[in-house]
This record gives sequence, structure tokens and C-alpha cells, in this order.
Amino acid sequence: MQTQGHLIVDVARLDKDGEEFSGETDEGLLELGDEPYITPLGVMRYRFFAHLLGSELLIQGRVWQPIRCVCRRCGADFETVAEENEFVCSIEIDAKTEYADLTDEVREAIILAFPSYPLCREGCLGLCPTCGANLNESACACKHSEGGNEFACLDDLLKGTPGETGKKRGGRKSSVESQRK
Ligand SMILES: [Zn+2]
Ligand SMILES: [Zn+2]
Repeated sequence: MQTQGHLIVDVARLDKDGEEFSGETDEGLLELGDEPYITPLGVMRYRFFAHLLGSELLIQGRVWQPIRCVCRRCGADFETVAEENEFVCSIEIDAKTEYADLTDEVREAIILAFPSYPLCREGCLGLCPTCGANLNESACACKHSEGGNEFACLDDLLKGTPGETGKKRGGRKSSVESQRK
């Protein structure tokens, strides 16, 4: 059910009780253009169930695409999978319809499944705004309490008042370190 990189359903031969089909598309189907943070890795895969309902071809199933992302906070590369597990689309057909092309629908579903703000991990600490060190890997010697580190405030919010944190851990730099563990 695939022709020249397109995802095609052979409507004329479709079982009247519906039919499951699965496969993969060609690489490069997504044509992301100037998307700087996300690169598709290899092919997009799908597993669908197709059935005819009157003048409609109804497709339901799952589509997924491995991707490489650039973390928006620290710039590290990481890999993940963009997936749509509840893909649904319906295509109008008539008695003369032989093929239906799902390529656009599938492409759109995957692009919508991309992370809008890719992060290498939940709570990525990002880079030090002063020296550029990756704070996920090691704390740097810079002072982050002068408003330079946006996470210092968040840290205080999560752990109680800044005073308490200061007494227990000896300042905000320590509280950043404790968040890493
Ligand atoms: Zn990161
Ligand atoms: Zn630094």
C-alpha cells in the first residue's frame, strides 16, 4: 500500500469488513525545512486499521517517528520518538476511488506530535549564563544568586522560603546542586 514514498491505501481492494495494515514510509517524507531543533531519524512507521463507512474511508491507528532533538536549555542532542497513538482520519471516496493518499494527514499528525519545547530531561538546568558550563554535568564557580540563574527562584519556590534553604544548604548554589541528584 505504498507508492514512491507516499502512504497509499488501495481502496478498490480493501476488505469490506476493514483491514489492518502497517509499514513504513520513505526517509525524508517529513521535509521539515528550517526546523533547527528537530531532525527525523530514519523512517516513519505506522499501524492502521482501515474501513469503509458509506462514502468515507476511515483510518485509525498509530504512527511514530524517531527524532533527534536539540535541548532548548543546554543545547545537548538527544533522541526520542514522536508518536500519535490515536491517529484518526477520514477521506471522502466514491465508487470510482481506487487509491487514497494518507501522506499529508500522517505527516501533519507527526509534526503535531513533536515536542514544542524540546528538553533533554525534565528539569534540565541549562547552561551557566556567565561561563557557559553545562550545569547538568557540573556546577560552576559562578554566583548564580545575582539573578543570573532563572532556576534559582524556581528552586526556592519548590523548597520553601529562600531563608530556610539558605540555612540548611548554605545558599542558593547548593540548592541547585541538590536538585541535580
Ligand atoms: Zn538540556
Ligand atoms: Zn558559570
